Amino acid sequence: MKELEDAANYIVSPDVYSLDPVPLQTPDQNRIYPFYDNLKQNRLTTTKCADCGHIAWPPRIVCPKCMSDRLDWVDFPETGQIYAFTVQTAATPPGFNPPVVYALIDFDNGLRIISPIVDCDPAQVEAGAQVVLKVVPAPRDRVLFFFRLK
Ligand SMILES: [Zn+2]
Repeated sequence: MKELEDAANYIVSPDVYSLDPVPLQTPDQNRIYPFYDNLKQNRLTTTKCADCGHIAWPPRIVCPKCMSDRLDWVDFPETGQIYAFTVQTAATPPGFNPPVVYALIDFDNGLRIISPIVDCDPAQVEAGAQVVLKVVPAPRDRVLFFFRLK
């Protein structure tokens, strides 16, 4: 965990990017702030349309299918399954030491997320492997999220 926290601290330093890349996550800064509030409770959530039932990823403020703004927050299944992955061995993002594994992760709610898989030996990663959420603290009371092997 400490290594990822170090990465989160590193990427927001002015020496790395001229702008802070971590989203602002409070109600006065972001209209999907409940997503971040839920992450802070170790819950991965997104929006489901109360009118047509569409579940969107990433979370929205308006349904992309029917344009309704009547959206509810719903939890993702606790476990996802790696559909495919790749390993980046050079020129990784600032704060991340190579190798970095990126995976397409399928969930039973029909959604697919692309994310780094952290805290793993890339040799252990395979299509079909199960993964779970990993929330990492970021500076100024924010969070980042990744996945790790279950
Ligand atoms: Zn809708």
